[in-house]
Amino acid sequence: MQFSANGQALAYLVSAILFILALKGLTHPGTARKGNYYGMLGMLIAIVATLLGAEVKSYGFIIAGVAAGGVIGGILAARVRMTAMPQLVAALHSFVGLAAVLVAVGTFLNRREAGMLNPVLMGELSAGIVIGAITFTGSVIAFGKLQGLISGAPVRFRGQHPLNALIALVTIALAVHFATTGSAVSLGLMTVLALLIGVTLIIPIGGADMPVIISMLNSYSGWAAAATGFTLHNNLLIIVGALVGFSGAILSLIMCRAMNRSIFNVVFGGFGGSGTAEASAVTAAAEKGVKSASVEDVIYWTEDADKVIIVPGYGMAVAQAQHALKELMELLEERGVKVLFAIHPVAGRMPGHMNVLLAEADIPYDHVLEMDEVNPEFPTADVVLVVGANDVTNPAARSDPSSPIYGMPILEVGKARQVYVIKRSMRPGYAGVDNLLYYQDNCSLVFGDAKAVCEGLVNALKGGGH
Ligand code: NDP
Repeated sequence: MQFSANGQALAYLVSAILFILALKGLTHPGTARKGNYYGMLGMLIAIVATLLGAEVKSYGFIIAGVAAGGVIGGILAARVRMTAMPQLVAALHSFVGLAAVLVAVGTFLNRREAGMLNPVLMGELSAGIVIGAITFTGSVIAFGKLQGLISGAPVRFRGQHPLNALIALVTIALAVHFATTGSAVSLGLMTVLALLIGVTLIIPIGGADMPVIISMLNSYSGWAAAATGFTLHNNLLIIVGALVGFSGAILSLIMCRAMNRSIFNVVFGGFGGSGTAEASAVTAAAEKGVKSASVEDVIYWTEDADKVIIVPGYGMAVAQAQHALKELMELLEERGVKVLFAIHPVAGRMPGHMNVLLAEADIPYDHVLEMDEVNPEFPTADVVLVVGANDVTNPAARSDPSSPIYGMPILEVGKARQVYVIKRSMRPGYAGVDNLLYYQDNCSLVFGDAKAVCEGLVNALKGGGH
C-alpha cells in the first residue's frame, strides 16, 4: 500500500490538528493525559503516512533505525528518574539539532551532485545548519551542566559578549556567502562557528536559569525541525517545528516572568550556584542559630489547625515523598483540617515537576494551587509544611537586592503562623544561596529525609498523635 500525495497531505493535516489538541490538553493537569494521547495518535498517523509515501524507496535502514532508537529510547524512558528529566530532555534536543545539521549537509551534497542547488534552497540549508548546530552543542553543554559532568557555575570572561556578537556576525556573513555561491568551505566554516556559538551561549548561564534555557533550547529545536521541513518539503515538519518553536519561546517568557527576569538578562546574564555560597550558608546557620523541631512538634501544631499548606520542592521529588503526603493529607482532612498544596512555577527541576508527582499520588487537582492563587492564603494558614523546597521560599528574593535570586517571585510561606521546613541539612538549594526564611521566629527545621519524616507524621497521626 502506498499513500498518494493528496492522501499524505490529508493525513498530515489530521496529525497537525491532533498536535494542536495535544498542546491544548497539556495546558491543564486534568486534561494532560488526554493531550498526550492526542499527541501519540498524531505522531503515529504522521509516521505511517510518511513511511507509506512515494519518496520512501527502501525500508532496510528505516527499520534498523527505528529498532535501535526504539530499544534505546524504551530503556532510557523506563530507567530515567523524574529528577533527571531535564537532562534527558536536553539530550533529546541535541539529537534534533544534530539531525537538522545532517539532513541539511546531506541535502547539499545530493543536490550539488545533481546540479540542483539554488539560492532559496541554500538559504533554507543555512538556517537549518545554523539553528541545528547551535541547538546541538547548546543542548550538550546544558546536559553536561545538569548531569554534573561539567560545573553548573556560570563561565564568564572579559569581552565575552562582544566576542559572541563577532562570531554571530561572521556566521551570518558566511551563511549569506554560502547561499549566494554554494561554497562548501563557507558551509563548513559556518557549521563550525554555529557549533561554537552553542557552547559560548550556554557556558555563561548558571544553575538557577537552566529551566529557562532548556525551554529555549526546546524552542530552537522546533525551529531547526521547521527549517528541515522546508528542506525536505514536508509541511507537517514545518507545522510541528513552528508549534514547538513558539510553545518553547512562550514557556521561556512565562518562566522569566515567574522569576521576574528579562529574557535578555537570562540569555546574556550568567547567574547561579557556587560552592562558596554553600559553605557560607552552613557557616551562617551555625552562627545565627536555626531552630529545629521534631515530628511531635509538627503534629502538635498541625493536628488542631484549621488550614495547613504543604509546599513541595525538589527534595520531595528526590525522596519520593508524594504518596506519604497524600496519606498525610487524608489523615488531616479526617480531622477537619483544610489542606492545600502550593506549587511554584520553577519548583523541582523541570516545569510541571511537582504537578506530575502530586498527580501520580492522586492528590486532587482542586487541592493544588499555583503561586498567584496560593500566596493570599498564607497569612491565614496555621501551619505551612515545606517539604524539600528551598529557593522558591527564600524571602531574600524580595528583601536582599544583593542576592542572586533578587526579584524572583516566591511562595510567601513566612506569612503563616508557623512554618516547618523538612530537609536533611543546612545545605542550600539549587541557587546555592542562604535561605533567610530559616531565621524567622515562626520557622523551624525538621531535619531528615522528606519521605521518612512524612511517614513519621503519618504514623504519629495514625497512632493518635503526640
Ligand atoms: P531547591 O533546589 O532550592 O531545594 C531543594 C531542597 O531539598 C534542598 O534544600 C535540600 O536540602 C532538600 N532535599 C534534597 N533531598 C532531600 C531529601 N531526600 N529529603 C528532604 N530534603 C531534601 O528546590 P526548590 O524546589 O525549592 O527550587 C527549585 C530550584 O531549582 C530553583 O532554584 C529553580 O530555579 C531550579 N531549577 C528549576 C527547574 C525547573 O524547571 N523547575 C530546572 C532546573 C533548576 P538538604 O540537602 O539539606 O536536604
